[in-house]
This record gives sequence, C-alpha cells and structure tokens, in this order.
Amino acid sequence: MVPSPHVIVRIDLARVRASALAIRARAGVDVLAVVKADAYGFGAAAVVRAIDDVVDGYCFFSLAEILACDLRALTAKPAITFGPPGDADAALYRQHRVRPAVASVDDARRYRSADPILSVDTGMQRFACPPGDLRDALRAGGCREAMTHARTPDQVQRLLELTKGETLRLHAAGSSLLHEPAARLDAVRPGIALYAGAARVSTRLFEARDAAGPAGYSGFASPTGRHGVILCGYAKGLRPGPCLVDGCPSQILEVGMQSAFVACPPGARAGAEVVMLGEGVTESAVAEAWGASPHVVLVQLAGAGVRKPE
Ligand SMILES: *Cc1c(COP(=O)(O)O)cnc(C)c1O
Repeated sequence: MVPSPHVIVRIDLARVRASALAIRARAGVDVLAVVKADAYGFGAAAVVRAIDDVVDGYCFFSLAEILACDLRALTAKPAITFGPPGDADAALYRQHRVRPAVASVDDARRYRSADPILSVDTGMQRFACPPGDLRDALRAGGCREAMTHARTPDQVQRLLELTKGETLRLHAAGSSLLHEPAARLDAVRPGIALYAGAARVSTRLFEARDAAGPAGYSGFASPTGRHGVILCGYAKGLRPGPCLVDGCPSQILEVGMQSAFVACPPGARAGAEVVMLGEGVTESAVAEAWGASPHVVLVQLAGAGVRKPE
C-alpha cells in the first residue's frame, strides 16, 4: 500500500520500549520480540534499535524480512523465523545467525545445521508438526528448542505433554497469554503487546459543513448535524469507527475509496485535526467497530500514512 500523503503516522518508540520493559519485568523469562511484518508497520529496524538492550531476541516471519532490515547491522541477538523456511539454504540461515522454525521431519533434517526450532501443532493447525511426527522431527533436526502457536492455556499444556522427557527450551505465549504464568515456559513472544498504544495516526478535515439533509452514499445523518471530509478511505484500509475531531470523541461515519465522512463537533472547521488512532482511540475500540482484530487495525492504520519522527 502506498501511504497517503494526507495521513501522518507517529510512532512512539519510547512507549514500545516501556512496554518491552514491563513485559520483561512481569514475565520473568526471556522476551523474544515479534518484529515480523516490519514490526507491525512500525519499522523493524527502528523497533530493534529501541528495545535491543531490553529483549533477548527477535521473531520474524521470513529470512527475507531479516535481510530487508539488515538485522545483523543492528544487533547480535538471536533471531528466529516462524514462517515456512522456503527454499533458502540452511547455510544462508547460518550465515545470518537465524534459526528457522520447522514443521516436518523433512525440513527438520534439511535445516539441521541451522539449529532449527520445532514448531509443534497443539491446535493451530498451521506451520506446525503433527504430534505423531514430533519425536522423529526432533531427532532429524537435532532440535534443542520447540515452540507452539498457542491461543489457550490448554494448548500450552499440550506442548508440555507432547515434549515430556525431552530436554528442550520451550515457548508458546504471544501477547494474549502473557498474563498466564503457566504459559510463560522459557520465553514469551509478544507482538501486539509491544506496539499497542504507541501509534498515533491523524489527518485533517479537508472540508466541514452543516448537513443539508441525508449525505454520502448511504444517506447518513451526522449525530451533531455537522460533518467533515478527510482524504483517507478504504484504499488505505480505513473503515467506519471512532475518532477524535479537534480532541472531541467523534465517529468516522462513512468511508469511500479515498475519502471518508466524519461527524464533527459544532464549531469544527476545515483543517481541524482528526485522530484515527491514539490518544484514547485504542486499537481495541477501533477493532470492535471494524469487526476485526487489534492486529489488523494497527497494521492497516500504521501503514496508511507518512511516518513522522516522534
Ligand atoms: C505473530 C506471532 C506472535 C505474536 O502475536 P501477538 O498476538 O501479536 O503477540 C507470537 N507467536 C507466533 C508464532 C506468531 O506468529
């Protein structure tokens, strides 16, 4: 997506760092920061620089992402990839000191020299080794570490049962299980918990007027009797939901391809600031309005505009 020149994205890296510190203090185990998808749109290199002395390692989706942010120029800390290892040679993983997660006996064998991590299926049914192949895959890869994509504490328990008797470093928890002490195992893998609350996405009213009857495609009526237009639409991922106009809680009422209608407080004029994320407009509030996850909201809105330094 090409960022809109009308939308300004500010990333509060100090806040990301504070979240990393809080997670580390609370979890009491290694923190493997998830910086896949360009750190959820925040910029992987910038995030790594901001938290490198706080965390114990990094999780990406692919080796390509690691090369794209030139990770080895930024940090010597360990990095792992979650996605399918693809066709890259084990030697390339070794060269960049990256360990791939593997999900089959074949891949475990193929990437053995890169010290692979076995991803175990405990219910996610994606990028993970079926329990029946677990012992063979561990042997084939010489694995010292295993992980699972867990959504529930039961799935963490399942990982423990399946790997019983093996000497493995284990991890399972993303952000949703950070509050579960039993899910922490040897490391946690927070993604959204690092980023939530740290992006501010704003634009300005291009125009504003008192309504003259039903407006827009849908014939909406602004609850305040006044509405404005912003130059950001569903082509940039925007959907109807909460916002602030001139600091007042308001609503994005109707979204078009490259513009949207916003309900306005009575006096609001063209040029008034519209905050689409940040300052109390939380990822979860927007996610609820969108019928989507906070991850979707962050990635869409953090990618919708031009990134400005804090
Ligand atoms: C993306 C991902 C995470 C982080 O998820 P959040 O919900 O953003 O914390 C952790 N583990 C795996 C395997 C993932 O793919």
